[in-house]
Amino acid sequence: MGKPRRIRRILKWTGVGLCILTLGVYWASGHWHAIWLNQKRTFYVRIGDGVIALIHSYSRLPTEDGWVWVRVTGAKTGFDRYDWGFSNGDIAGKMQYIRVPLWLPLLLVAIPTAFIFWRDHRFIPPGHCNECGYNLTSNVSGICPECGTTW
Ligand SMILES: [Zn+2]
Repeated sequence: MGKPRRIRRILKWTGVGLCILTLGVYWASGHWHAIWLNQKRTFYVRIGDGVIALIHSYSRLPTEDGWVWVRVTGAKTGFDRYDWGFSNGDIAGKMQYIRVPLWLPLLLVAIPTAFIFWRDHRFIPPGHCNECGYNLTSNVSGICPECGTTW
């Protein structure tokens, strides 16, 4: 058990946790919209329909600051799966916003996590290093010459 393995294990399960969390938020955003408005009422974060949006308004917004939860009822508009982008003057130059669909951070976490899983679960024949797969036949030092893992 070398150090890289322990780090990979932490990364792996952090990745899985983040994926589950993002999926949960993704799912929930189809039922509730969460909006957080700052005290000046000029900046807000909106999570809804599978999209996270950061919005800056040049004028104060008429709603209250803090968290607002909106239950989505009736006809659903569906998930804005491909609705992402950046605007620097939306609605007659009154707002700036960044919209990112939640599957994007999900993918960014899921791909490296899956890669670490694949790396750890590939078949390593007996007599080879568990870390890097190097052939350790006739190795007597107990230390892999390729990656330095003790075995
Ligand atoms: Zn090795």
